[in-house]
Amino acid sequence: MKAEAATQASVSQALTKGACPICGILKDFQWTLAAIVRPQAALRLCNFHTWALARSRGGSLERSTPGESVSSVFLEMLKSSPAGKVSSDDCALCHRVREEEVTRLRELAQQFQRPMFVEWMKTQGSLCLDHAGKLKEFVPLRYRTLVDEVVERNRSELREELEAFHEQLKQGVHAGGGLLGRVAEFLVGQRGL
Ligand SMILES: [Zn+2]
Ligand SMILES: [Zn+2]
Repeated sequence: MKAEAATQASVSQALTKGACPICGILKDFQWTLAAIVRPQAALRLCNFHTWALARSRGGSLERSTPGESVSSVFLEMLKSSPAGKVSSDDCALCHRVREEEVTRLRELAQQFQRPMFVEWMKTQGSLCLDHAGKLKEFVPLRYRTLVDEVVERNRSELREELEAFHEQLKQGVHAGGGLLGRVAEFLVGQRGL
């Protein structure tokens, strides 16, 4: 499927300093979901994904997903009896994100066979708390401590940056707001994951 081909960036391409690679990939993946979802009666979507679809029309999706596809999805949903608020456990798109998450965690875990990757992860790599915990289930036992070390390094780096940022704010300097987003990602993962 064309829309899915667009999401095939590998985890190694998603490796950047200061950001969780799994969050990065899933964040992009979220925006292709509108192209994947098929109009069907009784489709159940959580609050986040219903709004993601509603917003997708004017967003970066417009090229790959014409507004028609979202409106036909919504039309079918309106025809069936209202489900009320749907939890993430019952959401069709959350389900697709969780499948993608497992695929990508597996892919990332395989990278641990490359000594250069291990070295990079040790000194530069970032992981959010959630994906670090999940990744430990996929990496060979001997690398679990390394995952913990990455998280602790990330935590203290963010603390230092945030303390400095906090001091700047007191002096009326307001630059560097991107830091708060990085702290949020570290604490809870990307939005909607
Ligand atoms: Zn993450
Ligand atoms: Zn959802």
